[in-house]
Amino acid sequence: MTTPAYRIDELISAKAIAARVEALAREISAFYRGTDKLVVVGLLRGSFIFIADLVRELNLAVEVDFLEVSSYGNSTESSREVRILKDLRGEIEGRDVLVVEDIVDTGHTLRHVLSILGTRNPKRIEVCALLDKPSRREVDVKARWIGFEIPDAFVVGYGIDYAQRNRNLPHIGAVRFTGEPE
Ligand code: 5GP
Repeated sequence: MTTPAYRIDELISAKAIAARVEALAREISAFYRGTDKLVVVGLLRGSFIFIADLVRELNLAVEVDFLEVSSYGNSTESSREVRILKDLRGEIEGRDVLVVEDIVDTGHTLRHVLSILGTRNPKRIEVCALLDKPSRREVDVKARWIGFEIPDAFVVGYGIDYAQRNRNLPHIGAVRFTGEPE
């Protein structure tokens, strides 16, 4: 699939991300102190770098599991349909669950994920999202922990892709289409 030509303008540096992840991990560790049942659920694929960095800073015993649901595909428009592409390996019944998401945009994905996981009778579900675009919200969902609030831009890097590219950028950048042929 061909994509229009674009440039990436740095929005959040790798250093700023690392500092924020450390601060989030401190808050999360304090919140869950005393629980030995935390399951950290990463939403694939965009959260894979964030979850890897976050769990290494947590001062808790955790299990890590992954859930993949369908989302944007190769387009920048949000799909409202959410299907499970890869389910959790473990049971979450009676467990404390922390869902780790890359971006909360319209909120549809998170709302669906929370309702799917909610039917499995976890003890409690909280959400930690790296990025939040509050101006784009269409449904009322909230993450207890948010890394950064960002404006309405299409972002890539630190695990987040555009047409499966740019996940390996160490920082987060905004995609700017240049209109030139690639
Ligand atoms: P929502 O359902 O909240 O509209 O969208 C959530 C999902 O859409 C995110 O987990 C992410 O996969 C994708 N998404 C939202 N905004 C962006 C963006 O700026 N860049 C990329 N690559 N994906 C995004």
